[in-house]
Amino acid sequence: MNYVSTAGRAPATTFRKAVFLGLAPDGGLYIPERLPRFPAALMRDLSTTSLHAIGRELAAAFIDDIPRKDFAALFRRAWTFPIPLTHLHGNIHLLELFHGPTLAFKDIGVRFLARVLSHYLHTSHEDVTIAVATSGDTGSAVAHGFFNVQHITVYVLYPSGKISSLQEQQMATLGGNIHALEVEGTFDDCQRLVKQALADKEVAEARHLTTANSISLGRLLPQIGYYVWGMAQWQNFPRLGAADALPAFVVPSGNFGNLTAGVYAKAMGLPAGKLVAATNVNDAGAQYIRTGSFIPRAALQTHSNAMDIGNPSNLARIRSHYHDDIAAIQAEIGAVTIGDEETLDEIRATYSLTGKILDPHTAVGVAAARKRIGDEPAIVMATAHPGKFSDVIERALGIRMPLPPQLQEALERPKQSTRISAQYDAFREVLLSHPTRAMG
Ligand SMILES: *Cc1c(COP(=O)(O)O)cnc(C)c1O
Repeated sequence: MNYVSTAGRAPATTFRKAVFLGLAPDGGLYIPERLPRFPAALMRDLSTTSLHAIGRELAAAFIDDIPRKDFAALFRRAWTFPIPLTHLHGNIHLLELFHGPTLAFKDIGVRFLARVLSHYLHTSHEDVTIAVATSGDTGSAVAHGFFNVQHITVYVLYPSGKISSLQEQQMATLGGNIHALEVEGTFDDCQRLVKQALADKEVAEARHLTTANSISLGRLLPQIGYYVWGMAQWQNFPRLGAADALPAFVVPSGNFGNLTAGVYAKAMGLPAGKLVAATNVNDAGAQYIRTGSFIPRAALQTHSNAMDIGNPSNLARIRSHYHDDIAAIQAEIGAVTIGDEETLDEIRATYSLTGKILDPHTAVGVAAARKRIGDEPAIVMATAHPGKFSDVIERALGIRMPLPPQLQEALERPKQSTRISAQYDAFREVLLSHPTRAMG
């Protein structure tokens, strides 16, 4: 399987090269040259399969340069937590993607990417350095996903004073091969520093520098797996009413990576209902799906801040998949915008109906599911644990959620980050003065 660029001006390349490069040299995003079909046996035996078996089939379909026998160990290390389908209320269900170490769905893709990179580096006896800019959740998923992974050193750059102390503690207390850099600037400064370093030949060579941001194929492709796993569990799920109605997948969306994985899953032959993009007021992507016109804009801050994205990068993959045919997109994907007040209302409504507490991102999804469905069942992607957003929960419900134990532990560990200025020279100096030898 080869990978090509959405911008169409880069040579086709292998999976290995695509994940080490991140962005294609023409500035586009890597996409599979053609999508494989799921093996017929997997679809036929869906009700008796397992999450890891799905992962192994998926990995084998997309990656030809890792022996099939190695995938079992890879998934055992990457996917160490369950992804259960649960009933919420009425015909709304949740696929709970947030049981990983940082309690958000990004763990699922990041932990797969970490193991794939480590596998390649182990066979070629190389080390790499990963630099990643974060405004919160990505950094903690990357820090935890790559913690103690052999051959890899990580720099996480975050804007000083602009993320919650909980987010900071989650990425700045691990130590070992994870270096947290507190940048005296904004998230945009952090992103600029990473881009400058990647473009700096001397640094890139001395450190074997790469990144692990949300456009990485190595984070996107494994996400297809949980759509399949959602439908596998659906087959065995006790349900009311129309037993053969296929559920819609409702996806709380920011950069549209999660939704892109759903588009790919269906195109590969997964029987499922419509896909629905649920966004907060940062809805340039949702507007595009509704109208066919794409107007990126600066992001506004909302209660579901991991989705505060004004220019969703994975839209390029979706548009490329449908050859920019907006009617074809609308035939398969719906889009709903949910404001902050509606988000709080949904947290309250769900709590009073079921006693369950939704995180604000999942609440956007549930509100969107309610807004659009008639009788068709829905599976909402539950993207984060509510304990990560206790201030929003307190605002909605007037109760203070206890912190989940993983987060409590992070708060108690000493912070180990290095403060640097937003000038590129400061970051360059850190990269060139640290020893190049990675863990392991
Ligand atoms: C990143 C994130 C999203 C958005 O996912 P995309 O793939 O960028 O659309 C939604 N919810 C949570 C909790 C996230 O961390």
